[in-house]
Amino acid sequence: MAPCLAGEALARGIFIAQHQGRIEHFAARRNGGDVPKPVAANGVHLPPVFVAEPFSGVLTMEGSLVAVTKLPTKWGEFALHVFTFGEEHHLALVLGDLTQAGPVLTRIHSECLTGDALFSQRCDCGSQLASALQAISREGRGLLIYLRQEGRGIGLLNKLKAYQLQDGGLDTVDANLALGLEVDSRSYEYCRFMFNHFGIQSIRLITNNPKKLAAIAAMGIAVERLPSESSVVADNERYIATKIERMGHLF
Ligand SMILES: [Zn+2]
Repeated sequence: MAPCLAGEALARGIFIAQHQGRIEHFAARRNGGDVPKPVAANGVHLPPVFVAEPFSGVLTMEGSLVAVTKLPTKWGEFALHVFTFGEEHHLALVLGDLTQAGPVLTRIHSECLTGDALFSQRCDCGSQLASALQAISREGRGLLIYLRQEGRGIGLLNKLKAYQLQDGGLDTVDANLALGLEVDSRSYEYCRFMFNHFGIQSIRLITNNPKKLAAIAAMGIAVERLPSESSVVADNERYIATKIERMGHLF
């Protein structure tokens, strides 16, 4: 029989197991493999999908800063920071001095290979990324966190399989469900470590996603929302409408 841990120790065990599970979960999905079976910590069985956070602002998902390098872009030269979290690695693009007083203009962008790098107009990721970098550049100071959780966390292969189903008529939500995947399995926990690293306590967050705002506020970061600008074209009109109607996004 598993030893019985009291209170905080048990909760801490669950928290660590959840995050370890999430890392394995994301890694398996990114590689297009099977997601791992539910894990058990201290005798407590956990669901295969980790959504609820038992803590806010108490424990930090441990990361390490492994490199800082210059990233010249057409909107200016950013300092590119690379953080690792176990097998995961995520990026932060910094412009100007983040230690100055006042909320930091911030975008938390999840990777979209097709939209960010291949100019896809199936979604609005590329235009949101460009307009956020431009806004940060105009302000002369800000942070863009680039989380490598492709396809709202389901990985590139699954995302492209979902695209194939969408070609057959399903929307982005039903295509994920048809593949037995979550509609949105992104985590913003990595940001907590980065905010701590940069000493950031308040931000103006460029987003249309209320779930992201809630996740950041739950970390104890003061957050004000700025709408994210994206371009609506014929090819992404239905996708954006689905995000508004079925995922609660604001525009
Ligand atoms: Zn996209």
